Amino acid sequence: MTDHAVVIAGGGPTGLMVAGELALAGVDVAIVERRASQDLDGSRAGGLHARTIEVLDQRGIAERFLSAGQVHPAVGFSGNVLDISDFPTRHNYVLALWQSHVERILAGWVGELAVPIYRGREVTGFAQDDTGVGVALSAGQSLRAEYLVGCDGGRSLVRKAAGIDFVGLDPSTSWMIAEVEMDEPELGMRREGGGIGPVNRAEGGGPFRVALTEGHIEHTSEPTLGDLSEALISAYGTDFGVRSPTWISRFTDMSRQAASYRHGRVLLAGDAAHVHPPHGGQGLNTGVQDAVNLGWKLAQVVNKTSPESLLDTYHAERHPVGARVLHNTMAQVALSSPDDRHQALRDTMTELLSMDEPRRRIAAMLSGLDIHYDLGEGHPLLGRRMPDLDLVTANGPLRVFTLLHDARPVLLTLGAPGGVDITPWADRVQVVDAQYVGLWELPARGAVPAPMAVLMRPDGYVAWVGDLTHLGLPDALTTWFGPPAAA
Ligand SMILES: Cc1cc2nc3c(=O)[nH]c(=O)nc-3n(C[C@H](O)[C@H](O)[C@H](O)COP(=O)(O)OP(=O)(O)OC[C@H]3O[C@@H](n4cnc5c(N)ncnc54)[C@H](O)[C@@H]3O)c2cc1C
Repeated sequence: MTDHAVVIAGGGPTGLMVAGELALAGVDVAIVERRASQDLDGSRAGGLHARTIEVLDQRGIAERFLSAGQVHPAVGFSGNVLDISDFPTRHNYVLALWQSHVERILAGWVGELAVPIYRGREVTGFAQDDTGVGVALSAGQSLRAEYLVGCDGGRSLVRKAAGIDFVGLDPSTSWMIAEVEMDEPELGMRREGGGIGPVNRAEGGGPFRVALTEGHIEHTSEPTLGDLSEALISAYGTDFGVRSPTWISRFTDMSRQAASYRHGRVLLAGDAAHVHPPHGGQGLNTGVQDAVNLGWKLAQVVNKTSPESLLDTYHAERHPVGARVLHNTMAQVALSSPDDRHQALRDTMTELLSMDEPRRRIAAMLSGLDIHYDLGEGHPLLGRRMPDLDLVTANGPLRVFTLLHDARPVLLTLGAPGGVDITPWADRVQVVDAQYVGLWELPARGAVPAPMAVLMRPDGYVAWVGDLTHLGLPDALTTWFGPPAAA
């Protein structure tokens, strides 16, 4: 007997998103969260990138986030502002929204899906066997589940207890970060990275968020207001009367990634699987997208429509994405080094990024719109995100993303209606006949040939592209959504 089919350690952005995805698929899932409430000590992530907004749109909840933040038509790469307003997506911008709000809204959605959250409790260990995982909680409690997902952040106990290596680079720089009141500080980014900005980005004024590089990497105690004042004086010649900190913290440019995202019945997602500096604002975004890749796969395994081997595609697809994020944040840290040689390199990059093609490539990478899972050779859409086209159906106009609200796979046929028979998968895969007359365009790639049919996974990535013959469709359906049902 299990208490829940899936237990998630950690109810940050990643854990909440995994929970929502599993609940949509009817899986009995619960979260164990150390914090007594969703309140966050510090503002952390500052926004959502285009692909993350798209995946939220795929679930019909993007508007909740959009109405709470401000949109900006550009992404940042080590101080370079890269315009993305020409990108072929409905969400061709960054949404400025502090992590505390992202978590509040996600928790509201997960609450509507009736996911239980064991708050104020920690996962302290686990033991897995052939049938499930025993999860030990603080205060001597325990839960039994079929699978455990470690979404418990960069210091992940689940990752450590699973014995999964966390491979990468030790920190080379430490930043102090704080939210404080100050008298008319000098606003803006600094050459060596960091700077000062208003917490309320729409209205300006105090309180202010400060990020400053520190002289030392190793610290034996938490930073104090005195430390912050000293760092401000050293950088600006004054501490601008710094006072009333809401919080003071630090982060480093440590870059590490879990060698494996799966160990039997235990999976890792979000910061538990990868940590890197916040340059480019990609951490939370990558975690939410890990969750959307994992959720439907784990649901199908739990619901016994797919074999356990489907879970290996989670590592195969998301590990390279995480590695690329680590790689580009390392480059951004190097480019923000204040010495003359790195500044020359930065100037050169700035010149390159003022050109159209490099701008589009790097901006598509940061915004997550260029993600390409390796599903083999074929049409350029294969393994890439399905664009949110305006379709015409027998029942009227329809956006592609609306078809994904239930997190179920969809076979979209764009030729003559009724040409495909997928009866053995009809219990799992919805068939939608539609027309689309516009251009098929992918960010950073441009126009691609119009397909006759597209098989969409619940995460919005294209699993198969059809021509007149529908060759390979049964294989793709079996690979991604399980063997055909017996006639
Ligand atoms: C200064 C700063 C700025 C950042 N800026 C950005 C940005 O602009 N954009 C961006 O995308 N990302 C940014 N990030 C990164 C972002 O904050 C993280 O990537 C994100 O929080 C990861 O989410 P997560 O759910 O994977 O992990 P976390 O947010 O760390 O959540 C883990 C959760 O697990 C809980 N937990 C931990 N251990 C246990 C346990 N044993 N049992 C039960 N619960 C446990 C914790 O309480 C927490 O709620 C920034 C980070 C920092 C520090």
